[in-house]
Amino acid sequence: MSKTRPDVDPPDDLTVTPPKTYAAGVPGVAHAMEYSLAQAGPRRTLLTLLSLNQSEGIDCPGCAWPDPKHRHKNEYCENGAKHVTDEATTRRVTRELFAAHSVAELDTKSDMWLNQQGRLTEPMVKRPGGTHYEPIGWDEALGLVADELNALGSPDEAMFYTSGRLSNEAAFLLQLFARSYGTNNLPDCSNMCHESSGSGLGETLGVGKGSVSLDDIHEADLVFVVGQNPGTNHPRMLTALEETKRNGGRVIAVNPLPEAGLIRFKNPQKARGVVGRGTPIADVFLKIRPGGDLALFQMLNRLLLEAEDAAPGTVLDHAYIGAHTIGFEEFAAHTRTVTWEHVLEATGLTRAEIEGVHREVLAAQKVIVCWAMGLTQHRHGVPTIRELVSFLLLRGNLGRPGAGVCPVRGHSNVQGDRTMGIWERAPDSFLDALGREFSFEPPRHHGYDSVAGVRAMRDGKARVFVGVAGNFVRAMSDSDVTEAALRACSLTVQISTKLNRSHTVCGETALILPTLGRSDRDVQASGEQFVTVEDSMSEVHQSRGRLDPASPDLLSEVAIISRLARRTLGEGGAIPWEEFEADYASIRDRIARVVPGFDDFNARVAVPGGFRLPNPVNENRFPTPSGKAVFTCNDLDMIAPPPGHLVLQSLRSHDQWNTIPYAMNDRYRGIHDARRIVMVNPDDLAELGLADRDLVDIVSIWTDGSERRAEGFRVVAYPAARGSAASYYPETNVLVPLDSVAEVSNTPTSKGVIVRLEPALSR
Ligand code: SF4
Repeated sequence: MSKTRPDVDPPDDLTVTPPKTYAAGVPGVAHAMEYSLAQAGPRRTLLTLLSLNQSEGIDCPGCAWPDPKHRHKNEYCENGAKHVTDEATTRRVTRELFAAHSVAELDTKSDMWLNQQGRLTEPMVKRPGGTHYEPIGWDEALGLVADELNALGSPDEAMFYTSGRLSNEAAFLLQLFARSYGTNNLPDCSNMCHESSGSGLGETLGVGKGSVSLDDIHEADLVFVVGQNPGTNHPRMLTALEETKRNGGRVIAVNPLPEAGLIRFKNPQKARGVVGRGTPIADVFLKIRPGGDLALFQMLNRLLLEAEDAAPGTVLDHAYIGAHTIGFEEFAAHTRTVTWEHVLEATGLTRAEIEGVHREVLAAQKVIVCWAMGLTQHRHGVPTIRELVSFLLLRGNLGRPGAGVCPVRGHSNVQGDRTMGIWERAPDSFLDALGREFSFEPPRHHGYDSVAGVRAMRDGKARVFVGVAGNFVRAMSDSDVTEAALRACSLTVQISTKLNRSHTVCGETALILPTLGRSDRDVQASGEQFVTVEDSMSEVHQSRGRLDPASPDLLSEVAIISRLARRTLGEGGAIPWEEFEADYASIRDRIARVVPGFDDFNARVAVPGGFRLPNPVNENRFPTPSGKAVFTCNDLDMIAPPPGHLVLQSLRSHDQWNTIPYAMNDRYRGIHDARRIVMVNPDDLAELGLADRDLVDIVSIWTDGSERRAEGFRVVAYPAARGSAASYYPETNVLVPLDSVAEVSNTPTSKGVIVRLEPALSR
């Protein structure tokens, strides 16, 4: 049975206030400023925020929501301000901190404490048998990594992880280095979040990305927001939805929790958002059971087929279906077998609610479906994406303005990193182009994704872990197994801006290599550099740091990767690493020759706002094997907890960025001064014989009969969907076994964990 770390957040300070019924507004501005000023002081805060998301400024390191064509001078949200000033902080981690705290001591600190120490300032090493990190020069550090890599029995014993913070330029170089070294082991954070979207969209449309633009959102008749909490995770999406509403469009929110941002938005840029009541967002809110979305879309599809039966030629877009799709007949026959009984049980919704949404669909000419992790982190995440694609195909809601698919990415360049080849299964077309450009033969066998990578480290098949950005050990499922896997490595290397758990859970030798952040000015031999990123809507644009770097001993990610490549592969090969480091434009020239859609990259990205990558789906071209979009038949997969159990989803608090809490609060949900809480519907609590604020352990049960325990959580009565529970990530990662993954995509099933709540064992 598994345990959580005992050190973090005793839940006894918990206070609970009513959940907020709107997002943003004046309080959002005040909270952003309070955090920003405490971190970065007035001057750095001003410098940073005034250039945040401006066309020649810093791209927000937060989510991947796109920037509008006409930017406001304050073009950011509360959380974006916190993310960038958290990086721009004036606090510093120096060698004295590492001398004062052993690695073991640092490992007892909370995630928040580690982050709050500030920016890393010089390379540090923990040597074999050592208890503390100590300073090391860049030359020795990079030599140490190169020697270890070159001593491995096979390049596949190393893995190169990235988070979505990496720029296009650094990502392109990282995959080039890994492949020229000899491995496709390129796991990334996408494996843990939107991999199901990429898989489902790739199978059905041939392109694993969203098809819509901001203009499409604005002009849609109907926008579904499914399994998503935009008020916290993509706050400027609310500005776009506000525009949808002002243009007469309607919004249907589908989620197990009634999140503030789905209810009402007070836009702080507008007078009505400051002094008025703001804009209601969801016209319809479906409080669905976790994992019920597949069943919902299946029934909506059945209802469309039946409406067509009743009024032939008036509901489905037969011309579109005939010209651009395959598989309709099989899909229709399969969909007609979907039963109300199963759908109502899987969704927890009423028939009237679903029929009401069906009428909304019939009334809309242009429909968009947006989604996030509430769909993708389920065992049937990929079938759910396939099913919603069929839903859109039925009425031709692709390839025209105001319609399409919109997976909303949670980290600023996670989509761009994949475009740049951070993919353990990159297609041959990409590898062919890469090999031609740099005169080498890239490895063709698939590498490890995040789950396979942990298995490989656990089993001794991978011994060197290089992480560029991110906090792998806290982001991954099965915390105990992941921690043991990292500790089993001979070398772990973390290229980071700030201290996190992945530095305290480390291999026999461990290196911390401090790097420039997005907000830092990046000057190389040819002068000041900018980098580029790709947002959720395939817009590619510049990001240029404005602040003096946190320390003179920092190197950029591009410089670290280039120097490591030279040390590992030797000087004088066909890849001009030194030139790449000196002038990032030379990297972009190569990207233009390797990656489709980046022709004339340097010139096009010099234009303010950059350019949008083409998506063939928008021209009704589908790069699937048949050349057509594909209707699919998906079996209903429902999460059926036994009596006395709930379906737990893990989620972020509002005052949190990925694995890092900025505060112990979850302001929109009214949770204060605690994170070890579990939100449960009051009626479920009554049935379970529990009361609000009871202290419980969360015990997850699995099909192999195993159980896992996360200890010491306070119950909070909350208006969640019946039969569901919600608690914070990463504290509950311990409940998800490594092998519990989504079909096809291998994404951990963090949104569908069957649990029971037991009186706490230990407190
Ligand atoms: S919406 Fe996302 S990208 Fe925009 S400022 Fe907020 S966190 Fe940053």
